[in-house]
Amino acid sequence: MEKIVSLCKRRGFVYPGSEIYGGLKGTWDYGPLGAELKFNIKQEWWKSMVRNREDVVGISASILMNPKVWEASGHTAGFTDPLVECKICHQRFRADQDDVIKEHEKFHEKNKEKASWTESKKFNLLVEVKIGVVEGEKDSAYLRGEITQGVHVNFKNILNSSRLKIPFGVAQIGKAFRNEITPGNFTYRSIEFEQMELQYYVKPDEKESMRQYEFWKNLRFAWYKSLGIKPKNLRFREHTKDELAHYARAAWDIEYNAPFGWKECEGLHHRGDWDLSRHQEFSGQDMSYFNEETKERYIPWVIETSGGVDRAALFFLIDAYTQEGDRIVLKLNPKIAPFKVAVFPLLANKPQLVELAHKIYIDLKKDFNVAWDERGNIGKRYYSQDEIGTPWCVTVDFDSLEKGDVTVRNRDTMKQERIKIDELKNYFEDKLK
Ligand code: ATP
Repeated sequence: MEKIVSLCKRRGFVYPGSEIYGGLKGTWDYGPLGAELKFNIKQEWWKSMVRNREDVVGISASILMNPKVWEASGHTAGFTDPLVECKICHQRFRADQDDVIKEHEKFHEKNKEKASWTESKKFNLLVEVKIGVVEGEKDSAYLRGEITQGVHVNFKNILNSSRLKIPFGVAQIGKAFRNEITPGNFTYRSIEFEQMELQYYVKPDEKESMRQYEFWKNLRFAWYKSLGIKPKNLRFREHTKDELAHYARAAWDIEYNAPFGWKECEGLHHRGDWDLSRHQEFSGQDMSYFNEETKERYIPWVIETSGGVDRAALFFLIDAYTQEGDRIVLKLNPKIAPFKVAVFPLLANKPQLVELAHKIYIDLKKDFNVAWDERGNIGKRYYSQDEIGTPWCVTVDFDSLEKGDVTVRNRDTMKQERIKIDELKNYFEDKLK
């Protein structure tokens, strides 16, 4: 982890939040490369979950919501009870429920771990904010603790403004905020983070909903693998009885084999009719769905896939980190690598080479995120690109001036081949398919 954290800072993936003022615990700022990595991850997710599907639409809901939303979702119910948090798995329990706490300790004992607890406190997971300009007349609200509710409160709006029929899904990517008692493990547990979620509405039917649940569970697992996570570092874990939310019909996590243990990357939840029926109860609005063909009316059940963009970015980085002798290589899948290509003139003091290389750089930039480097020798430039995961480097040399071709060097194999300049765009497009 130390190596990852230092690489992230040194090369501009992730910096501690507001560092010049001594930081703010549990917050992180993404630098130029981190911003690209996160953008690419979100884009791949959106492609797989929204654009490539006929039954899913995307929305972008507000971070600030009417506080009643959080009463309906159950988030504000626990504020009055003192809670303790398990320092191993960060689950919280009512401090007065000895039997539940003992049972949880036993669970860790079985795994040869000794549970220890934070002090008991009245705990508000939601980050409170004040809205209004006049002191003394401000309204309290919360920054959303999960992006989920922004979808459910819009269930009727989405139905009425589209031609969707059940089963269908609503996807969203956005920031969420939690007063974590114990932020840590770099970006893994932060107080501000980004989620990517699908809420998939299905008919309230045991068999059909479980079929859908299995479908989404497997699809999400396959997504991480398709973007390069090594299968041996991924696993499913079913929630134990004491972690299962009372309304959940099934819950599994996708976990990653991090240097700090197997850790949750994404949660897959069968939420039953909890969300919509609670919003119906608390808002007094009808949240049912009417099937025109069968004339059935019901509150749909929800299958949720809920992943963290920051956790995905961290696990992609950890999984890609490779040391080969003195060479550090981030073997990121080219689709999520911050730069796809780097372009160099062989010698920085030969204007003809620099001119042609710069023209190639500007041309390729229209279609890909491309890096430019003319410092030091070629070997150093290759190493520098390897360390940030750039899959291909293009070098313009004297032959390029005469023959109109360049050397393309592959990050993983270090093999080089000559490619015609006017074929470069197709060459990279093919590789990125
Ligand atoms: P954990 O048990 O690790 O606290 P959770 O079960 O509370 O996570 P969910 O509420 O299911 O998490 O949220 C869905 C996803 O959002 C998680 O799988 C994770 O990727 C991301 N996430 C949740 N909390 C955080 C956090 N504090 N920092 C970064 N990402 C988070």
